[in-house]
This record gives sequence, structure tokens and C-alpha cells, in this order.
Amino acid sequence: MQALNLSLGVSLLLSVLKVSVGACTGALSLLSEALHSLVDVASSVSAIWTKRSSSEHLSHRLEALILAIGALWIFFEIAIGHFTMISPGPGILVSLLSLFLYTFTYIANAEEAFSSKAVHANRIHILSDIVGSLLVLLGLVVSFFTGLAWIDKAIAGLIASGLLVLSLVLATSDGHD
Ligand SMILES: [Zn+2]
Repeated sequence: MQALNLSLGVSLLLSVLKVSVGACTGALSLLSEALHSLVDVASSVSAIWTKRSSSEHLSHRLEALILAIGALWIFFEIAIGHFTMISPGPGILVSLLSLFLYTFTYIANAEEAFSSKAVHANRIHILSDIVGSLLVLLGLVVSFFTGLAWIDKAIAGLIASGLLVLSLVLATSDGHD
């Protein structure tokens, strides 16, 4: 249970940071990851407080819906171009922090993962969080050194595609993991 609380705290902190820094600096890749973290907050809450499989089933459907709408919004923003990345620096710091926190959570969950199925499933999920943060970091670092702002949008598209796949997996899963 402690491991799930840790995950919730980390997702909560990171979603606030990613939304604010992503919106202020125009980093769409960070906003895509913010959407991911927000859904993580929702799933951590449901993993902690919802132990009945029927409502778990419902929460998976809800997460899938939020992810699909969010991913479509990101594709829309890429096409419309509302967001222009002003500076990659702050986003680089946030993605470094998320990499650190996700890796810490992953290591901290190791023991509990043997006894709890929910923690084990959550731990596998943290690997996808680590990959997402690495992608954002990579895109922003390349933008930082080359000045090519479109790379951020390419990464955002990649993450949004991943979230769309995740949404389909959640929508078709039976809610029992
Ligand atoms: Zn996640």
C-alpha cells in the first residue's frame, strides 16, 4: 500500500510541474507527458481506494477515454500550432526530475512488488513512465543544442501515439490486470 501511495505522490507532483512548465514554455512534449501523469494520478487513486473489480473496470474505461481525448487534443495542437516552444531549459529540468523520481519509485517498489499484484502492475507501468520522460528529455536536449523547435512536436506526436495505444489497451482490458 505504501508503494502505491508513493506512486500517487510522485504522479501528483509531476503532473502539476509538467502542466505548468509545459504551458509556460510551450513544450508540447511535456504537456503530453502531463496528460500521462494526470491519468496516473487517477489510476493510483483508484488502485488505492477501489478494490472492487466492477468499479476498477469502470475506472479503466474512464482512464481510456481521458487518454484518447487528450491524445487527440495533442494531435490537434500539433496540426494547428498554438504552441511554440520558447525555451527547452525548464522542461529539461522537469524531465530530469521525473526520471529521478520514477527510477526512485521503481527501486523503492521492488520488495512490495513480490507480494502485491497491484504494486507489480504499477511497477511495470513505471517503466513506461521512464521511457516517456527519456523521450521528452531527448527531444528538449536536441532542441536546446540545435534550436530546432519542431523536434518537441515530433516527440509530442510520438508520446500521443503511445497514449492512444495505451487507451486502447485499457479500454479492451477486463479490469483485472
Ligand atoms: Zn504513467
